[in-house]
Formats: sequence, C-alpha cells, structure tokens
Amino acid sequence: MAAHQDSATQTAPARRPIRPLPTMVANQIAAGEVVERPASVVKELVENAIDAGATRIRVELEAGGIELVRITDDGCGIPPDELPLAIAPHATSKLDDAEQLERIATLGFRGEALASVSSVARVSIRSRTADSASAHEIDAAGAEVSAVRPASGPPGTTISVRTLFFNTPARRKFLRTPTTEQSRCADVVRDIALAHPAIGFDLVTNSTRTLLSAPAGQSPRARALSILGQELEPELLEVSVDGGDDERGVSLWGLIGRPAIARGNARGQHLFINGRAVRDKTIQHAMREAYRGLIDPTRTPTAVLMLEVPPIAVDVNVHPAKSEVRFRDQSMVHSLVHRTVRDALRAADLVPAAALPTQAPTRETPAFGARDGVTSAPSAGDAQAFVDFLKHDAPQQASARFDYDAVRTSLEAGDTPPEHSAPAPPPAPSPLPPMRSARLLQVHNSYVIAEEDDGVVIVDQHALHERVMFEELMGRVEAGPLESQRLLSPGVVPTTPERIDRLGELGPLLRRIGIEAEPMGPRTIGVHAFPTLLFERGVEAEAFVSDLLDRAETDDFVPDSEAALHEVLDMMACKAAVKAGDKLSEGELGELLAMRDRVERSTSCPHGRPTTV
Ligand code: ADP
Ligand code: MG
Repeated sequence: MAAHQDSATQTAPARRPIRPLPTMVANQIAAGEVVERPASVVKELVENAIDAGATRIRVELEAGGIELVRITDDGCGIPPDELPLAIAPHATSKLDDAEQLERIATLGFRGEALASVSSVARVSIRSRTADSASAHEIDAAGAEVSAVRPASGPPGTTISVRTLFFNTPARRKFLRTPTTEQSRCADVVRDIALAHPAIGFDLVTNSTRTLLSAPAGQSPRARALSILGQELEPELLEVSVDGGDDERGVSLWGLIGRPAIARGNARGQHLFINGRAVRDKTIQHAMREAYRGLIDPTRTPTAVLMLEVPPIAVDVNVHPAKSEVRFRDQSMVHSLVHRTVRDALRAADLVPAAALPTQAPTRETPAFGARDGVTSAPSAGDAQAFVDFLKHDAPQQASARFDYDAVRTSLEAGDTPPEHSAPAPPPAPSPLPPMRSARLLQVHNSYVIAEEDDGVVIVDQHALHERVMFEELMGRVEAGPLESQRLLSPGVVPTTPERIDRLGELGPLLRRIGIEAEPMGPRTIGVHAFPTLLFERGVEAEAFVSDLLDRAETDDFVPDSEAALHEVLDMMACKAAVKAGDKLSEGELGELLAMRDRVERSTSCPHGRPTTV
C-alpha cells in the first residue's frame, strides 16, 4: 500500500536529450570490458608486441602491475605521426574492412586496447621504426594526450602503464594484493609464451626478480617444458594430430600430464586456439571426459593443448578480451580432443580396461543367475555374487583413485549391470545370509553395508570419515592452533618464486592449522612442522603443502577469511580420512559407523556428498 502511494506521488524524471558520449567516457566504458586488472594490460600490450613482429619481449612489473606494467619489444615500431592514432579509439593498423573480420590473423583487431588503457592509467609510448634515426614518445592519461616529442631508444616499442585506475578509485579498490595481481600477470605471460615458442620472453618484477625467462627460437615442446617445468617431462605424454581432410583442417598438438600431476586448480591447464589462450568449455569438457575415472573429479589435468583451426571455422570476436571463442562445429572439436587425449592415456596404459559400472563383465560363468535370456535381478542368493562382481572386476589400479562416485550413483539408482536390466522380481522373501552373519560388510573396500533394524544402509566410508574429521578439526581450531609435529628434516617442496610470495600471505592461516613452512631458496619451500593429525594419518607434508598452494593461488581464496580456513580444514579432513579402496578391519568398520551418531551433519561430507544411503 505504502509503495503504491510512493509511486503515485513520485514525479516522472524530466526527459533528457540523447547525446553522444564524450570520447573519454566511451573509452572508460570500453575499458571496463577490456581492462579488468594489470594482467589484462599485460595481455593487450604483449599481444600488440607479437602483432608487431617482435622476436624478444620483456615485461616489467611493479607492485604486481598495479603501479607499473612496462613492455619492451623489438618489433616494427610506430612512426611518430601515428603515435596519437595508436591511442585513439577504434584505430588499428590490422583491419581494413568488415570482410577481414572473418579471417583474422593478428591477435588484436579491435583498435581499442591502447585507448581503453590510457583512459584509466598513465600511459607513455616510446617507439622507433627500423628506418627512423630516432625514437619518439607520447604520453596519455585519462582525457589528456601530450604532443609527440623526440626521444632516444632502440628500434621497437616500449609502453609504460602506470597507476592503473588512478582516475577510477572504485575499480582500483577491486584489485587484489600485488602478489595476486602479479601472479595473474605471470599466468598471462606464461600462456602467451607457450603459444609463441619462437619469441623470447622475460618477465621481471620490481626491477630485480626474474619470474620467467624463455629464449627465442624454441620448439613448442622445449618451450612447454621450460614453462611447465623440466622436471615434469617424464610425466607428460605428447599428442599430435595433423589436420587431414577428415578432421576438417583442425590440427592439434600438446603435452598432456599423467593423472598423478593433475592439480587442485585449473592453472596447470593451458588451452590455445590459433595461438590464443582460451578458456573454452568445449575443450575443458573433452579433457575432463578423457580423464574420467583416472583423476579425482575435483582436480584438473595438467596439459598444454594447442588447436589450429581454419580461421573461418572459429569466431574469436565473441568476447572483448577474446578469451572465449565459438566453433562452427563444436562437437567435432570435442570429439577430436576427447579421442586424442583418451587414446594417448590408453596407450600409456593408464585407462582401466573395464570401467565400472557401465561395462558389464564378460565371464565364463554367469555372474548372477541365468544368462539364457531369462534374466533376473540379483536375488537373495546372488548377493554375494554381486559383491564379488564389484570386487573382482574393478580396475586394478583403482584402489587409489577409484571412481567411487560412479559406483555410488549406480548403487543409489539401484542399478544392476546392464545384462540384468529387466524388471525386478518381487523382493526376495529370504534375508541375505552373508550380510546377516557379518552384520557389517565392506564392499570394494569403499562402502560399508550395515544391517539396521529397519533396513540396510550403505555408507561411503570416505565421505563419512571426512565429515567426522572435519567436525573434529573445526572444534579443535576454534580452541587454538592445531597441534603440530616438528619434522626431523624439513619437507622440501619445489616451487616457483610466485608461490613463495604467496606463502608469505598465508602465514597466519598456516600457523592456525599447525604448518610451519618457509622459503629455502628462490624455488624451494621447506616444511618444518606439520599438523600431528595429518602426520599420524600418513599424509605427506610436501604434497599437502603443494596442494594447499594450488588452492591458494585461485582468485576466490582470501587468506584471512573464514571461508579459506574452512576450505583448508576440509582439505585436511579429506586427506586424513580413509580413502575409497582402504581395507578396513571389522573393528574399524564398527568404529566408523559409531562415529556417524556422534557428529552433527553426518549424513553428508563437507562437500555435500551423501555419506549414507
Ligand atoms: P589493435 O591491437 O586492436 O589494433 P591497439 O589499441 O591494441 O589496437 O593498438 C592500436 C595500434 O597501435 C595497433 O593497430 C598498432 O598499429 C599500434 N601498436 C600498438 N602497440 C604496438 C607495438 N608494440 N608495436 C607496434 N605497433 C603497435
Ligand atoms: Mg591490440
């Protein structure tokens, strides 16, 4: 009612005439799409250097790029009379007409980047073309553009971008810590360097630290190894498909990681289409499918994957930062990636021959009951056979990384193997003898089947134990830092300089959970103390800290937040809990089930996965 009266008394706003936006405002709006953070500046400027034919590109950052991004290249340069055009909106040397938009061969083409950047930062461009005797320079900041003046410098271009968002404080506030911004910039340089192995790259921070240095003229493989880390070589499989007619001109090259080096965040996965780093859902999905059952679904396979697609078959002009593309034939790309990666993993003997539960076994003797067309669901007498089936036909290497989600889903859905998909007969009148006598039965070392007064429960041992551990850790950490154990010799975690910076930010969080870790050199972290609970559960300190840093590298991880604490405790619970595949004694089984009644929210694990059906 009140709302009604309000709207009745409100006077309609006076109509204002339509006017073109002042250029400066239009640029700032465009900048909102293109320039999100220092990493976007790095991306645009490095791409410009590549388009200019540079053979060496140097990237310098101060305060993670928030104070300074400077890119120096040895490319073709910009003649002095064109310097003002370079920062003018919609001015480009890369496109003449709309027709060319269909087959873009350069990384840039929108003619917006320098205009956008200079509308929100202090930009200075110094450039010299090969045939010019000296360099020239121009400055731009917000709406102001200086005159072009002579300067000294070698052929090529240096663009400095200072105090990003100096005139848009609200956006400046959205920037993360210099460490985080720096690490995003490094991601960008790394991706571009992967895609352009012929070009030399250096990434230097705060005038001193070299985060990345890659010589010019490398092969794609050598470049990929130098970026991913030489030590990963034995863990990487090379894939390559030459775009024949049947693939409609799509070729693919890459190094894909064995399951063991899958990571807790997506930053080990580098996908490229025609030399552009992309986050492409189609390819990501195809990768996930190819690794299905081989890695924990929460991890991302490590990979460098480059697709070359005829420009006509892909639209790159769907995203202002060009980080997404649209394929004409999405399913062809999906199946090419899926098949190629899957085959490579298979050839390396990593893929289980029989994947439960969709593929039924072929046996000499019937698995359950008749096989002569008169099919029946497992009856009472077949229960043991069903258990045997689960135990027997599970892939051998499954013990560590068995796809228990799939089995659980199947158990929940009451699936029987496909052979027995005929309508179920009425429930068997007789009880199940093997279960009754044992009362507790561990199936496939992953599920506990227990007899209860009013039925049978199936417990996911890992999910339940994880929940129990999580509640326990939460309780303890509220009382003070977790108890920790000093390691006799420090655990050594090889790492990157960026991650060492990140470690500094994690200090208080690590202390709360009982981890003591410090840099031991520019590329090594030493772990000196480790939570007793994890230690006792046999969790490896190095692997845990490395996983934690993976997680901490993602953008949504705010080190001092409660959410981060929860997440880390959850990681601890997950690592400390019994795994799917761990054989438990009858006593342990009983203990686990007893815990079910002791903790709150025991019906689901901290991720929300049900513990019990
Ligand atoms: P786009 O790259 O889409 O053309 P930009 O705003 O990024 O738009 O750049 C505008 C123009 O400035 C480019 O088309 C190019 O001619 C010139 N330019 C920018 N950076 C460089 C560079 N590093 N070397 C030579 N020319 C450059
Ligand atoms: Mg550009």
